Amino acid sequence: MPNALVWFRNDLRLNDQPALQAALRGGFNPIAVYVHAPEEEGAWQPGAASDAWRHGSLLALDASLHQCGSRLNILRGPSIEALQKAAIACNAEAVFWNRRYEPVIEVRDAGIKRALRTAGLRAESFNSSLMVEPWQVESKQGDPYRVFTPFWRTASGQLRLPASQPAPARLPDVTGLADAIGVDELNLAPRMHWDQGFWNQWTPGEAGAHAALTTFLEQALADYAQARDFPAAVGTSRLSPHLHFGEISPWQVARSIQQLPEAGAVFLRQLGWREFAHHVLHHFPETPDNNFNHRFDDFPWADVPEASLDAWRRGRTGVPIIDAGMRELWATGWMHNRVRMIVASFLTKNLRANWQQGASWFWDTLVDADLANNTLGWQWVAGTGVDAAPYIRVFNPVLQSQRFDADGEYIARWIPELAVLAAKDRHAPWLSSRKIAGYPDAPILDLASSRLDALKAFDHVRAVRAD
Ligand code: FAD
Repeated sequence: MPNALVWFRNDLRLNDQPALQAALRGGFNPIAVYVHAPEEEGAWQPGAASDAWRHGSLLALDASLHQCGSRLNILRGPSIEALQKAAIACNAEAVFWNRRYEPVIEVRDAGIKRALRTAGLRAESFNSSLMVEPWQVESKQGDPYRVFTPFWRTASGQLRLPASQPAPARLPDVTGLADAIGVDELNLAPRMHWDQGFWNQWTPGEAGAHAALTTFLEQALADYAQARDFPAAVGTSRLSPHLHFGEISPWQVARSIQQLPEAGAVFLRQLGWREFAHHVLHHFPETPDNNFNHRFDDFPWADVPEASLDAWRRGRTGVPIIDAGMRELWATGWMHNRVRMIVASFLTKNLRANWQQGASWFWDTLVDADLANNTLGWQWVAGTGVDAAPYIRVFNPVLQSQRFDADGEYIARWIPELAVLAAKDRHAPWLSSRKIAGYPDAPILDLASSRLDALKAFDHVRAVRAD
């Protein structure tokens, strides 16, 4: 049997793995390779939390491959050189991989495909991570969508659940590549162990992804529509890092939620936002670094003092819902969606920092950091993006906290020093007569006046519109 390289990237699983299936279907011996080349990701090289996750996910994939009698060959980039060398070393006739959609990677991969084909190899890529390809959905006028609802109306009409493709029970035992190194040699896991709080919450890898899905189906899917906004509850799936690293595919998730059609539809719509984010990133590849809405290009973002930015990052702003969210992020590499919106509004409106400062902190600290979703999320909250919340919608963090964490449970979980306060006092402790040792006595800014300042700054955008 001829050999083929199966180039693993953000598709770190063996079930429903189109590139692996293509190799097997084509009658090839699949040789699994992973190429470490972060410098090829341009300005958006993986952050520290992503690296920590990838370390675990690569170990898990290698273990699964061993169970099938194979192994993961980890190589160092540049990717094209590593692939060509590996293909020669094992006499491979083909290279198969699953697509990624980050703009820099799309360009790189197109170049790699050309080069491999020129060298006489069969080179093919597949869709493993989206339910609809970004270019597959277009408006009646043939344009990309800029608004979620019509996008999803069209996209959801195109969904055809493919049959599942189970992982192979055995893979041919092929000799490992001489250049292959161990996962540890990539130094992805932090030396200082700041990630230790992560791993009682998360299990990177395909088995961990399926365990998270099972927990969600058993404990949360039925109430998803009601509970998904309450950060203290187990109300959402927590599948985002697993989806980002391709440890599970959206199709696998979509199949499993069919058991509860009503709740399933609400959840599927949320997966639809992920599809939309990739659609937008593909069609507007400049958006990770630029405002989608150019009227914001001269927006008077504030020159926020480093101390205030640091208070935001470390969860020491004195506004409990903000601090709880930022501490959850630091401790676990993840933050609940409702709280992501509140902390992002605080940063971009009350502090008036450019959204990119928030996006880059999230990029470094989230285990689910994803260029499409993170860019969409930040530009949505900042009001600069597609289908964005208007800039003048400034979240009041105290009201949000009272509404979505009425019992102050989430706050007490992440800021235990505030647990001594009655639940109703945890949202704005500066109004209570009791001083809390170790927690700021007052917020770093006045919420009401900073809101008015943000609205005043927005007049600038209105003026641009009038031009
Ligand atoms: P669930 O509610 O269980 O949703 C299921 C899946 O749907 C998620 O795993 C995710 O893949 C997708 N999804 C849900 N909501 C959104 C959304 N608003 N946009 C895009 N996809 C969505 N998500 C990331 O995966 N990576 C990011 O880097 C990221 N950055 C964000 C930054 C900001 C400022 C905001 C407001 C949101 C961001 N999100 C990001 C979207 C969302 O917060 C997370 O996807 C969600 O909190 C993940 O938790 P979950 O898996 O329990 O979600």
